Amino acid sequence: MNYNHLIQKVYTKIEAVAPQGEVASYIPELSKINPNKFGVHISTTQNFNFGLGDYQEKFSIQSVSKVISLCLAYKILGETIWKRVDVEPSGTKFNSLLQLEADNGIPRNPFINAGALVICDMLISNLENPEEDLLAFIANLSDHKVEFSLKIAASEKLTGYRNVALCNFIKSLGNIDNEPEVVLDFYFKLCSLEASCEELSQLFLFLANQGKTLHSNLEILTKSQTKRVNAIMQTCGFYDESGEFSFRVGIPGKSGVGGGIMAIHPGKYSIVTWSPKLNEKGNSYKGMRFLEDFTTLTEQSIF
Ligand code: GLU
Repeated sequence: MNYNHLIQKVYTKIEAVAPQGEVASYIPELSKINPNKFGVHISTTQNFNFGLGDYQEKFSIQSVSKVISLCLAYKILGETIWKRVDVEPSGTKFNSLLQLEADNGIPRNPFINAGALVICDMLISNLENPEEDLLAFIANLSDHKVEFSLKIAASEKLTGYRNVALCNFIKSLGNIDNEPEVVLDFYFKLCSLEASCEELSQLFLFLANQGKTLHSNLEILTKSQTKRVNAIMQTCGFYDESGEFSFRVGIPGKSGVGGGIMAIHPGKYSIVTWSPKLNEKGNSYKGMRFLEDFTTLTEQSIF
């Protein structure tokens, strides 16, 4: 498959499309980004790498980081994590409080904010230095180093009232062990991670490679765990638009309100797009369009 030719073709088409939607502004620091940024990078299990546009510029990965925290918790704690977080699509907004009460504080999945907060709580209880240990885990995934953005974490902390509410609510329902303030600080740091499309696609390549890194052949997750993480991305990776992404694109992925989308074709590649304008569901408008056209043109999807 001549991926560079196909990416070039789709990129040229989508670059010309006027981006619709809005840049996320509920985290004030995110609103400062140039809305016209557009980058894409693919990394394949055959060790082919190719990027176009702003693919080497770091951006705020936001909820894409929830895949990293899930993988780390899953690696440390194994199947026990599913006692505290479910694997069902929520059908509600990513920061919704609605279902939690009826579900007794067990979040629907690890990719909505409630679920990610519970995963953060697990990591805090099980890591000696949660922030450093998280960065060390990420450093194993590829040759790249990624860092937190203290500015973005501080900006979110200032305005993250809903996450504060979620964390306290789950604590009151008995599914957060640590102090909510500690959990929230770690969660805001996690969301503030910055990486480029190139770095992210290389970092997540293990999910296309049966759980092993390509550069060092290190087992991050078992084959079965990798299948499960990809399955949750397929059903829950795009807020309450996961069905639409599945329908249009046909591979698992995870988006973030910084405008990034990471998607995996198991056995083949990991691909990352970045364009900050979001549709009304919170997913990158151009990123979704790009990936839809790309999987259509390659005639490759998991279905
Ligand atoms: N830090 C963001 C929040 O908690 C993440 C949202 C996202 O990317 O889905 O609201």
